[in-house]
Amino acid sequence: MRILVTGGAGFIGSHLIDRLMNQGHEVLCLDNFYTGHKRNILHWLDHPYFELIRHDITEPIRLEADQVYHLACPASPVHYQFNPVKTVKTNVVGTLNMLGLAKRVKARFLLASTSEVYGDPEVHPQTEDYHGNVNPIGIRSCYDEGKRVAETLAFDYHRQNDVDIRVARIFNTYGPRMLENDGRVVSNLVAQALKGIPLTVYGEGLQTRSFCYVSDLVEGLIRLMNGDYIGPVNLGNQDEYTILELATKVQNLIDPSAKLKFEPLPQDDPRRRRPDITRAKTLLNWEPTIPLDEGLKLTIADFQSRISASTPHSSVS
Ligand code: NAD
Ligand code: UDP
Ligand code: UDP
Repeated sequence: MRILVTGGAGFIGSHLIDRLMNQGHEVLCLDNFYTGHKRNILHWLDHPYFELIRHDITEPIRLEADQVYHLACPASPVHYQFNPVKTVKTNVVGTLNMLGLAKRVKARFLLASTSEVYGDPEVHPQTEDYHGNVNPIGIRSCYDEGKRVAETLAFDYHRQNDVDIRVARIFNTYGPRMLENDGRVVSNLVAQALKGIPLTVYGEGLQTRSFCYVSDLVEGLIRLMNGDYIGPVNLGNQDEYTILELATKVQNLIDPSAKLKFEPLPQDDPRRRRPDITRAKTLLNWEPTIPLDEGLKLTIADFQSRISASTPHSSVS
């Protein structure tokens, strides 16, 4: 098949492309390199079945594909809040353009939505039926309301234009290739511990998240795309940890003497988050296989090689 991956030079997109290329598909990677990087897909650049297109999805583009994985959107709060109006445009105008494209070429279209559509959830764990508790005017709204409109657009193109959609609600995902300066909690803590600086814990660290290793997540996306169920489907790991527990794990794995530094909790930071994955289990026969400790070790190894490569004259022992 010919498969278009928007946001393909990013963290999840590049891992997805590795899987699709290894399955023998032709892949079009579309990215504006806002948070993605060429090095993530460098190993495919000379491959005859791979094509890289530098393009911003807020502008229309005509391409042909059988399937579209629509991932283009900054995912870390630091990045999506840097230019919030642009984040809304990417989610709304960008998703509209990609749905228009899918409609024109009759491609199946998978939207990478997010657990953020549940906001600061009053239902725990979160099921797909829960409609969420989202602040429409807060600093996270450009992303979470943006994704809610993206879901609305996907379902309206499905109802109105018969576009064959799939909607994944992705929960916190981590792994190799996350940006060192990404601002998300796993990348922050790992990079800080490796650099010997204090680990930043926001608030008292009692808020919870559930962390899914990237290879598990990619498997879920591919199953959803190629199955019959349109969604929405939660994709995430059910093991829930407080941020303090996560920081302690990172400390133990990298440097038990590393210090913790408590910083203010950002506005609208969800207090707890854990997916109910009954739908994914039943309808996609999918569940995560990599426990946090194992995934963290793989992530740490990747960060270690990047950090030591970028500081050749440092005295890191
Ligand atoms: P990422 O920031 O690494 O990747 C996003 C990619 O989209 C980047 O390569 C970026 O350059 C590109 N992009 C952004 N705006 C664009 C635009 N206007 N036009 C073209 N390309 C653009 O993030 P990620 O973690 O790989 O997330 C991928 C998708 O999964 C996002 O849609 C995100 O909302 C969703 N998601 C991720 C997580 C997670 O924990 N990583 C959780 C929930 C949802
Ligand atoms: N679009 C695109 N590529 C395509 C087809 C459409 O970027 O191959 C854009 C198009 O420019 C429009 C949006 O997708 O802004 C929605 O397209 P649709 O055909 O649904 O709506 P219309 O063009 O009728 O407003
Ligand atoms: N967080 C933290 N230290 C950091 C970065 C984040 O304690 O250096 C917290 C953040 O406040 C949130 C959780 O970790 O409660 C997850 O943050 P992240 O940005 O990774 O994802 P999201 O909030 O979008 O789930």
